[in-house]
Amino acid sequence: MSTEVLSGKNLADEIRQSVAEDVKALTAKGIHPTLAVVVATDDESTDYYVRHISSAGEKTGIKVQLVRLASDANYDTIAEELTLLARDNNVHGIILQTPLPPDVDDNKLRALIPPEKDVDGANPLSAGRIVSGVEAFAPTTAVAVMELLKHYDLSIASTHTVIVGRSMVVGKPLAQLLLAKDATVTICHSKTRNLSDITKLADILVIAIGKPQMITEEYVKEGAVVIDVGTNALDDGSLVGDVDRQSIQEKAGAYSPVPGGVGPVTTALLLQQTVRSAQKL
Ligand code: NDP
Repeated sequence: MSTEVLSGKNLADEIRQSVAEDVKALTAKGIHPTLAVVVATDDESTDYYVRHISSAGEKTGIKVQLVRLASDANYDTIAEELTLLARDNNVHGIILQTPLPPDVDDNKLRALIPPEKDVDGANPLSAGRIVSGVEAFAPTTAVAVMELLKHYDLSIASTHTVIVGRSMVVGKPLAQLLLAKDATVTICHSKTRNLSDITKLADILVIAIGKPQMITEEYVKEGAVVIDVGTNALDDGSLVGDVDRQSIQEKAGAYSPVPGGVGPVTTALLLQQTVRSAQKL
């Protein structure tokens, strides 16, 4: 059986093109969509991600305003910056990059991002709204999985979808978005017993654990749609997902690869959500 590859590149291009058009229309009205990125870490992969957002922003006309704080910044310093950005009418989206310095209350910090500027769905209030079915920005990675399924016309309603990973950026919000589209959703995590017995029941299997190539064909039902969210840098500098592509290749019906799957869509959606915020403010 040949596996359909669910590439995110074309979808990301489409999203960026429509964002660039929206930015033009806003700029004509004197509004310059701006995304503030607050960074309080020296972590190299965060640096790489932030550079990536900045260049993607530049290409679509969105201003990316980097607020760089010391990696040992305390709660008050970070809170003060977030409060200033929250009040700044020229800022339409705010993201607080992780990791944060140890001993700061990250949930309390996230709560300082006003829901209307919370373009990566980090505020616990945004999460609550998603659960309640009230309009809010959801974390872009979770939205990226939904958009990828939609782009490739893959049915969600009445499927059994299994998500491995229960973080607030992927697993939990994605479960809510899938439920809202009438999937039957199971969430697994590190304490789940007999993981492969459960994942093998999945029509759609989403993996977001951060364990390089852990998911092999024993975890996959014949013909399943497999979405790999994992992004793991190996010692040789290469990037791999949580799914062993070679192993599942012949068994999955469709597979979203790493790199080139969910990742590019996520960044494009961050820009799209910033534009949506600018359109509403
Ligand atoms: P977290 O570390 O916050 O969460 C990992 C989840 O995986 C936890 O729920 C954990 O369970 C579960 N887990 C860990 N090991 C196992 C295991 N052996 N079996 C079953 N479950 C396990 O990670 P994130 O959600 O932030 O990220 C997950 C992956 O997705 C990473 O590789 C990350 O780089 C990638 N990612 C990619 C993005 C993108 O493409 N744009 C964006 C965000 C993340 P427990 O809760 O019990 O600890």
